[in-house]
Amino acid sequence: MKVAIYPGSFDPITNGHLDIITRSSKIVDRLIIAVSKNNKKKTLFEINERVEMIKEVIKNENISNVEVDTFEGLLMAYANKKKANIVIRGLRAVSDFEYEFQMTGMNYKLNPKIETIFLMSLDKYQLISSKLIKEINALKGDVSQFVPKIVENKLIKKN
Ligand code: ADP
Repeated sequence: MKVAIYPGSFDPITNGHLDIITRSSKIVDRLIIAVSKNNKKKTLFEINERVEMIKEVIKNENISNVEVDTFEGLLMAYANKKKANIVIRGLRAVSDFEYEFQMTGMNYKLNPKIETIFLMSLDKYQLISSKLIKEINALKGDVSQFVPKIVENKLIKKN
């Protein structure tokens, strides 16, 4: 059975993330979206808010093999605990490459039984990042084309 983890901050979930979720859900048996509790990263949304938004968003999609969880500490330790054999990551243009390359290499050294699979972002999602969306929203810009409606509403409430 192919159990995959899609880890990230998801602060908040975007249409780019959602695309990776729907596409990867078709190639694995079970997909666990793992929201990172990393306290070193200052997030706009609390962990529970991020989880709830993802749950709401995936409820509207026709995907039954996807669940949402949180994790802290080493991703490889979490993957072991969940008996996962795959980590899913999304790749945008070249900007993600260096970081992902290093992370994947180190993760492989920590646990060679777990493969990291990269899905290339579709061109319409290439430029979407949670970070930029938060900046645009804070400046009262319209983010409706980048995030699901539920997320847009939550972002507006943060202003
Ligand atoms: P992290 O803090 O781990 O970078 P993110 O929530 O920013 O968490 O991203 C989680 C994963 O989703 C990463 O693999 C990232 O490259 C990918 N991702 C983020 N935005 C997009 C996008 N627009 N298209 C495809 N993949 C994306």
